[in-house]
Amino acid sequence: MDTIRDQAFIKERLGSLKLYTSNLLKILWAIQDEYRYIPQRFIHYLCSQTELTAEAIYSVISFYHYFSLEHRGDNTIYLDTSITAEMSGYKAIRKAFEQQLGIKVGEVSSCMQFGLFETSCMGLADQGPAALINHQAYTNLTPEKVKQVVADLMICQSSTSLPASNIRQSGPIFFQTNKTKSTLKKMFKSTPEQVVEIIKASGLRGRGGAGFPTGTKWEFCRQHEGPRYVFANGDEGEPGTFKDRALLMKSAKTVFLGMMIAGYALQAMRGFLYLRAEYFYLLNDLNKTLNKLRQKGLLGHQILGSNFTFDISIKLGAGAYICGEESALIESAEGKRGEPRNRPPFPVEVGYLGRPTTVNNLETLSNLPSIIARGANWFASLGTTESKGTKLLSIAGDCNKPGVYEVEFGTTVNDILAMVDAKNTQAIQVGGPSGKLINTQELERKICFEDLPTGGAITIFNTSRDILNIVKNYSNFFMEESCGFCVPCRAGNVIINEVLDKIIEGKGVARDLEQIKETAKVIAITSRCGLGQTSGNPIMQSLDKFGHCYQQRISKDMEFISEFDLQESLRKAREGLS
Ligand code: SF4
Repeated sequence: MDTIRDQAFIKERLGSLKLYTSNLLKILWAIQDEYRYIPQRFIHYLCSQTELTAEAIYSVISFYHYFSLEHRGDNTIYLDTSITAEMSGYKAIRKAFEQQLGIKVGEVSSCMQFGLFETSCMGLADQGPAALINHQAYTNLTPEKVKQVVADLMICQSSTSLPASNIRQSGPIFFQTNKTKSTLKKMFKSTPEQVVEIIKASGLRGRGGAGFPTGTKWEFCRQHEGPRYVFANGDEGEPGTFKDRALLMKSAKTVFLGMMIAGYALQAMRGFLYLRAEYFYLLNDLNKTLNKLRQKGLLGHQILGSNFTFDISIKLGAGAYICGEESALIESAEGKRGEPRNRPPFPVEVGYLGRPTTVNNLETLSNLPSIIARGANWFASLGTTESKGTKLLSIAGDCNKPGVYEVEFGTTVNDILAMVDAKNTQAIQVGGPSGKLINTQELERKICFEDLPTGGAITIFNTSRDILNIVKNYSNFFMEESCGFCVPCRAGNVIINEVLDKIIEGKGVARDLEQIKETAKVIAITSRCGLGQTSGNPIMQSLDKFGHCYQQRISKDMEFISEFDLQESLRKAREGLS
């Protein structure tokens, strides 16, 4: 640590950060952004300043997509490889970047000026093909735009702005102007116990997809001695989801107000928004909003003269889908690898720093101000018997009006297709790759917990799309995002991926279909968390509903095709060819 640059960096940047474990991701981000990688000397420095071992720091760096021990280029470019990006011209964009930069994906230019990489969904499925360059979003890319973007970067100019929030339809709950002060005043007229009862009476269920009753979750948490913590899960990583981006861009105050309501009900003093790394570009504005709330006395010590003291800070992820799982999110917030914990104990009992913690989806929290302001009965009058209120949907793919829509629970898929002007639809993925794939015989099915629950993603595929390519893209995603802890999830998803390659290449046989079904079943029943348990869904559901797409590709009368070249198949998989 003897260069002038290192010393200045330590003094100015690290000096302002508290060097303890739960801050590790923030510290590593500061180093990664300054040097474009994590130099070994900083790992030794951190070891000398904290209780962390070098092994522990290396294991954290290796876990997250955006940290690297090797230089990622002064301009680090990440291309979105999600299925919607593929559908909107990803390959041409990748080629354009490679041509303009003279490097391939995964490489850094010789002068270190550019690094070109891929990443899975970056929350921009409605405006792809997209890229993140030095944390900024570049949307609706074309090969011509790429040329301009690279030319600008070469002369150190950046022509980016925030992506569009793309809110196409808001309803009675979201994107309203919630009056923070009057909502808090109204809340303070009820005791924390009464607020829990109000939320229970409203019937609000978690919007992450599983639908656990919010009030009941809080009640469980309150049974355990404090201090308690509130987390807003802003790690929407399910490919095809982007509604939290819109909430954070247009309704950040409502999100924070929701966290305050949860904090009051739980008698917590601290709340954290866990923000996915792909939304780094929102960080400044979010911090400004928090500061304004503090200045107005709406956040911090004894809010509005009450006995309620509560503050919120933001924890930034570093690129790991699995951190959307609540216990993995907590591990990550503690500065560790975001691996899911064994449960029980559940986070409501042993959560952040070993304390009772609730992790609520950001959308779930955004419902709370309306419930407090307008009452539980009003909220419960919306929706269906078991799904109260409305749902935010991120709709993308083959339709003319992709974007964010608020719909009442109970809305049919048919209504949604009409709403977004979708034509010649072949299939709809409800809830991202781990959700449900439905066909056109199921268009009267309803968006609700009783029928089609969803965290929010709806991806539409028209008849020109190859179902096997879609499944392959989802399979790539699960293979990449498996944290590797469970062998069936780690190895099984690779096996599924290889067999899919074989079938897509026309070298599959009937036995292969049996093999991927069996593998998907084993992964589902032996995996520790939701990722593994649902990673076989695209295979199982496409085989069930679009079996003919597989049958057309396999040789039914052969047991084995000797010329199948596994190595070649893997090479192509690595290159992302389909
Ligand atoms: Fe990790 Fe997969 Fe196991 Fe989940 S199921 S803990 S993602 S290996």
